[in-house]
Amino acid sequence: PTTLRLDRLLANLGYGSRREVQNMVRSGRVTLDGAELDDPDQRVTVAPDLSERMRVNGKPLDPPPGLTLMLHKPLGVTCSHKETGPLVYDLLPERWRRRDPALSTIGRLDKETSGLLLMTDDGALLHRIISPRSHVSKRYHVTLDRPLRGDEAGIFASGTLLLEGEDKPLLPVPLETLSERSATVTLMEGRYHQVRRMFAAVGNHVTVLHRDRIGSLDLPDDLGPGQYRVLGTAELGRVL
Ligand code: URA
Repeated sequence: PTTLRLDRLLANLGYGSRREVQNMVRSGRVTLDGAELDDPDQRVTVAPDLSERMRVNGKPLDPPPGLTLMLHKPLGVTCSHKETGPLVYDLLPERWRRRDPALSTIGRLDKETSGLLLMTDDGALLHRIISPRSHVSKRYHVTLDRPLRGDEAGIFASGTLLLEGEDKPLLPVPLETLSERSATVTLMEGRYHQVRRMFAAVGNHVTVLHRDRIGSLDLPDDLGPGQYRVLGTAELGRVL
């Protein structure tokens, strides 16, 4: 198990500069199992249950490093760090933006796509999930401008579909028809605007796009747009 100096842990979680968190500890605002800590240099073992045992200003410690979240991304927010305007990071507690290691999104959804988005501060986990070799599937619910013609499932499943401007055909994509103008598609890769461009390639237009599943992890019904929750190991096991 990883151990960290208390001041380092608190600073890395965004509670303040090294100096500020040292003062917090010395003034008795950090407790472990109910007892005040007084030595910012003491080492603490970083385990997932630390948030239940340690309190800062009377509140449970933020989740220690090794954090993975699921978020219901609403429409109109951007996955990137760089852009202006509402970002997915703005949906999380303000302090979490100062975490080190930082949280990043596992893959991306377009600004105008909603649904299940995972975030993590674990770089190795991120790479395992987005690696094409891991074959993590992503399912999208699609609403269309025009009725399905009937040949789309065959074209998407063929493994020969070329997107505009690309020379490598897409992997087969299962399509399940739900109604005249709605369907699900399940992707094993994630090219830029892939779902929208696939339907453009068959003469249609996606009007609403929502991701409802990654691997065998479903977006929970009780997780509303803009809400998030910490992912446990069992749920993470459904992704990989
Ligand atoms: N395909 C898209 O076109 N957009 C997304 O956000 C995800 C997949």
